[in-house]
Amino acid sequence: MLFGVKTLPVAVLAVAPHAEPEKLSIIDAHGHLNGDVLAETLIALMDRAGVSRMVLMARYYGARAGGLGSDEQALAYATKYPGRFIPFVAGQRPVLVSRMRWLSPDRQAEDLLRNAEAKLRSGEFYGLGEFIMLHYAYTTRHGETGGEQDVNVPVDSPLMRRFADLATAYRVPLLIHLEAEPDAVAQMARLLEYASSTKVIWAHNCGRASANQIKTLLARYPNLLCDLGGMMATPDSGYGHYWPRRTPWMHLIEDGSGQLYPDMKALYEAYPDRFLIGTDAAHTPALADYERRIHRFRQILSNLQPETTQRLAFKNAEELFRR
Ligand SMILES: [Zn+2]
Repeated sequence: MLFGVKTLPVAVLAVAPHAEPEKLSIIDAHGHLNGDVLAETLIALMDRAGVSRMVLMARYYGARAGGLGSDEQALAYATKYPGRFIPFVAGQRPVLVSRMRWLSPDRQAEDLLRNAEAKLRSGEFYGLGEFIMLHYAYTTRHGETGGEQDVNVPVDSPLMRRFADLATAYRVPLLIHLEAEPDAVAQMARLLEYASSTKVIWAHNCGRASANQIKTLLARYPNLLCDLGGMMATPDSGYGHYWPRRTPWMHLIEDGSGQLYPDMKALYEAYPDRFLIGTDAAHTPALADYERRIHRFRQILSNLQPETTQRLAFKNAEELFRR
C-alpha cells in the first residue's frame, strides 16, 4: 500500500434513495494518474465507492508535483482491467506551460502532436487533456506543488487549434482547465466556435463560472460540456472552495454540506445532458479522500430529479466515451 486509506464515516452522511450506492453506478469523469499509483489501488477504491469506470489523465510533471505518470501507464491499466478505465492522451506536461509554444508551435510541440495523433489513431484513448490554461499555483499540505507558478496560456491559440483538429478528426473530447475570467471566457468562446463539431469539456463547472454565465454558454455552444471535477467541498478537496485563491469570477456549487445552491440546481435540471462528475484526485495522497468525494457527489446528486441524477452520474459519460 502506497498511502494510508482512512476509513471514513461516510455512512453518517445521508443521501436520497435514488442516489444510494447500490442503486447508482458512477463514472468518474475527471481522474488523474501519477507514477506511484497502482491499478489495483484504484480498482479497490472504485469498488468500495461504487464507481464503474474512471477517466485516467496522466500527470507528466516532476516528482515534486507528484506526477511522473504516463499515457502508457494509463493504457496498461485499461488493458489489465477491461471496461474500468478511460485513458486520455495527457495534457499535463511541463512542455505545455510555455506561452510561446501555444502561440507559435515549435519542434517539441510538433513532436507532441505527432505522438498524440499516433495514440488517438490506435483507438485506445478516449480524449485529450487535461490542458492547464489558466490555473493558480498551490502547495498541498504534503508539500506537492500544483505548478511552480501560475499558468496563463492562451486557450484560443494555434497549438490549441491543432489539438482541437486532432480531437475533431478522431472524435474525442478536449478537456480544459481554465478559470472563467473575462478574457479567458472570450477566448474559450472563440475556440468553441472554431471546434464546433468537437465536444469540449470545460473542467470544474466551466471554470467555476456563475450559473447564469454557464447557461448562456451552454445555450450558445452545443458542443460544450462542464465537468464538476473537484467541485465537492470536502475538507481535502480543492475547487469546491475558493482555492487556491478567491477571485470575483469564482462560483461554488454547494454549501459545504452537499446541498446544491439553488441557481446551480436549476442549471443542472435545465441542461441535464451537459454535465459530468469527477473526483479530481490530482495528487496521490488525495486518494485517501476518494470514497468521501464520491459519497459527497451522491449527496449532491440526491438534490436532483432521478433522471438528472442518472445523467450526471453515468449516462452522459457513457455516451461521451462510447466507441
Ligand atoms: Zn483542473
